[in-house]
Amino acid sequence: MILSSPSPPPAVVEPTNWRAVYQGIESMRRDGIASNAPVDTMGCERLSVSEVDSPNFRFQTLVGLMLSAQTKDAVTAAAMKNLNARWSDGLTVHHIVHDIDEAELDKLISQVGFHQRKANYIKRTAAILERDYGGDIPNTLQGLMSLPGVGPKMSYLALQVAWRQTLGIGVDTHVHRITNRLGWVHTTTPEKTRMALEQWLPKEYWGKINILLVGFGQKVCLPVGPKCSVCRVNSACPEGRRVLRVSLASSTNITLCRLDVRAIAYPVACLTGEYLALVGCICCTAFSFLFFFSQYVKSPDKFFPLPDTNVTLGDEHPDDVKVKVKVEEKEMSEGESEMSSAAAAAAVAVKEEGKEADPQFMKQETHVKQEPMQADEETSGHREVLSAPSISSALSSTDAAVTSPSVSMASVTRSSKQFLTPSPPPVSASAHMHASESSPHPS
Ligand code: SF4
Repeated sequence: MILSSPSPPPAVVEPTNWRAVYQGIESMRRDGIASNAPVDTMGCERLSVSEVDSPNFRFQTLVGLMLSAQTKDAVTAAAMKNLNARWSDGLTVHHIVHDIDEAELDKLISQVGFHQRKANYIKRTAAILERDYGGDIPNTLQGLMSLPGVGPKMSYLALQVAWRQTLGIGVDTHVHRITNRLGWVHTTTPEKTRMALEQWLPKEYWGKINILLVGFGQKVCLPVGPKCSVCRVNSACPEGRRVLRVSLASSTNITLCRLDVRAIAYPVACLTGEYLALVGCICCTAFSFLFFFSQYVKSPDKFFPLPDTNVTLGDEHPDDVKVKVKVEEKEMSEGESEMSSAAAAAAVAVKEEGKEADPQFMKQETHVKQEPMQADEETSGHREVLSAPSISSALSSTDAAVTSPSVSMASVTRSSKQFLTPSPPPVSASAHMHASESSPHPS
């Protein structure tokens, strides 16, 4: 059986411009927008309160590294402050093993991520250190990595800070993200990044690249939304060029989108306005038509007034009386023969019965008869005065009125009606005069 040996990691070619990029990041960390990063004041190497290069200093540095996983530097610093303040001489292996239980320890570091698991790791690590290492931390990579909750990154950094040994590159999430963005490596895990970097990065950079890129990642090359537009190395960064292209395209698209919206919205608004105006016009016209039609149905006389045929003779203006008389003449002409025969029959009946004529009736008949007489007098200069009205004169006047075209048929008809009516309404002579004057007298 042939066992295949594990394949070596693929060789990583040294980036051609990595030195220039490294110097650019250094300049940003020194006096640029990446200066004064949290790691510069709250890094794990700055959290110890004990004398440097002492066992307590090394243990506090290791505990700080264990707490910093998945936790911001400020939170890690606060938790370390609680632990160091718990005892007068600060955090020691002896205090963790004998003077505090896991629950209280968890409470002191409750603000960090995964604090319960970390409290358990710290408690077990302290017991191992007291039992196997005399209360100090191991000075080897294998010894550190054998401790609960201690990985390669913590081991390399602990060796570098506590024992001042740089055996490898401490690659945390910042170093892994930035080196991949810069195109220096193409890896998927921090450990693979460390191995890839160690193939080409000179050893004099191993000890300082961590704090350089951690601070740069905290201020500029953020995990989400890196500030590529102000980054001094964006021209040499593939990810930076991509982000800038996307940003430029997005802004252009937004502008085009706004322009498109305006280009569409304006005609739509115009068309909508015209449409609404047209609809309003139609509605107003229809409403007006319906309103006037309803008014016409209610009272058509308002729109097409008819001549008033009920005016009282003598009470209106002469012009109105003329109109009245004309209307009556028209009406009377239709029943002229009937009324004339009725009047003649009435006169004959009176004549045969020998009754004395009604004075009122005779007076009216006299007036009726005077109208043609007066007209004749005006033309011929002869005036006939009827001083003693009789049935014969009434008959003659009636006949004259019927036969003479100069006499108003309306007056004759009215007189006949009045004569036949038991209580006829009085008609003034002036009215008859007006009526006779209104009719043109033939010469
Ligand atoms: Fe990070 Fe952007 Fe700078 Fe590249 S250009 S290193 S992605 S901040």
